[in-house]
Amino acid sequence: MPKLKILIYPDPTLRKKCSPVEEIDDDLIQLLDDMADTMYEAPGIGLAAPQVDSTKRVIVVDIQPRERAKESTEELEILLPPDRSELIELINPEIVFSDGEIVGEEGCLSIPGFVSDVKRKYEVTVEGYSRDGELIEIQCEDLLARVFQHEIDHLDGILFIDRLGRLKRELLKKKIEKVLGKEEKHAVL
Ligand code: ZN
Repeated sequence: MPKLKILIYPDPTLRKKCSPVEEIDDDLIQLLDDMADTMYEAPGIGLAAPQVDSTKRVIVVDIQPRERAKESTEELEILLPPDRSELIELINPEIVFSDGEIVGEEGCLSIPGFVSDVKRKYEVTVEGYSRDGELIEIQCEDLLARVFQHEIDHLDGILFIDRLGRLKRELLKKKIEKVLGKEEKHAVL
């Protein structure tokens, strides 16, 4: 189970717009497997292809570790690894409906060590394809809806820091760039 390298901001691949998957072949199945392994090992609750240097429109999501950690007084490490029963893999995911708004804390495996409050839609309906080529529709709210919005943004080269107000965004970007030691040259927004 190879773990892929997670690209760190300001890697330019994180700003690329990904292309739709046209064929589900062995390479794509391998990518999905490797992405799930990488997400669980990080550990994270979502991962999008550009974060592992691919420009295919695919994401993996599993909020179970986070939810279990919140419900329990035990340490997250004790609860891991999750059983993968709630792993969601989506090919060509799209938000087809959204409603409401909610502000919540968000971070990103590609911007380690930084979090910020981000306004997102409270409720979304996401459509995409499974590895078997079946059309899947998921209606969800709150944390799962937030993760889908965050990961699907990645496929369009958008990071959570882009969703902040201008002043907050500039301040956070400066802080991040100071810590990571590199300035982003060509942001999308
Ligand atoms: Zn992210």
